[in-house]
Amino acid sequence: MEIREILAKSILSKSQIYQYALNPYVGCQHDCQYCYAKYMRRFTGHEERWGDFVDVKINAPELLAQEVKRKKPGRVWISGVCDPYQPLEEKYMLTRDCLSILVENGWAFTIQTKSALVLRDMMTLVRSKDVEVGFTITTADEKIRNIFEPCAPPISTRLAALTDLHSKQIRTFAMIAPILPGAENLVNALKDKVDYVLLDRVNYHYADHTYKSHGLQWASEHSFFSVKGKELLMAFERSGMLCQKLF
Ligand code: SF4
Repeated sequence: MEIREILAKSILSKSQIYQYALNPYVGCQHDCQYCYAKYMRRFTGHEERWGDFVDVKINAPELLAQEVKRKKPGRVWISGVCDPYQPLEEKYMLTRDCLSILVENGWAFTIQTKSALVLRDMMTLVRSKDVEVGFTITTADEKIRNIFEPCAPPISTRLAALTDLHSKQIRTFAMIAPILPGAENLVNALKDKVDYVLLDRVNYHYADHTYKSHGLQWASEHSFFSVKGKELLMAFERSGMLCQKLF
């Protein structure tokens, strides 16, 4: 794994999902096979495979402190193209420092992660007036998780983290994207842990080879997403949970 400390020029970028996206890292140690952010590699100058390098924006908090003073306040998505709580965050604490700045300045933010390391920052989260924390969970089947997300934390730790956050009255959500085999068991698993659920397919073609090498091509076909998406939507609604299908 190539880890490089870099100085970024800016930290709040425009986002199509929220007003801003904030990425303290370029690259992601979680190395999910379907990762939609792989396209970022061509902007980095890296020759390594996506998942084999991370650039650490060591000046992210300093930049953010300046940018919140001169930019119009808006909701910040943390992060769009990396996991803000990948293992390196334990050492660098860039996400933590950025959260503190957003909270101190009254900015709203949405965290999206696969890691329970977010719980380390609970004291900051509970001080925020407008925060939500989402966990991406694509399946309830740990064997499937291990195939597609080999370096990401186990499903049980993500569910436990959601329980913890939800019990502290922090708004939580689950992003099931891409929908993988075994996702149907998430309906029960997520009950009483989240305020809402999002379903999407994202760019699963990045994982074509993984689907093929494990005999799972059927789960990458349009019909799978179409049928499973509708089934999941109905099942979440039946169990009284807010759910939105984004495709
Ligand atoms: S956690 Fe997100 S950003 Fe990181 S590799 Fe997985 S899909 Fe990509």
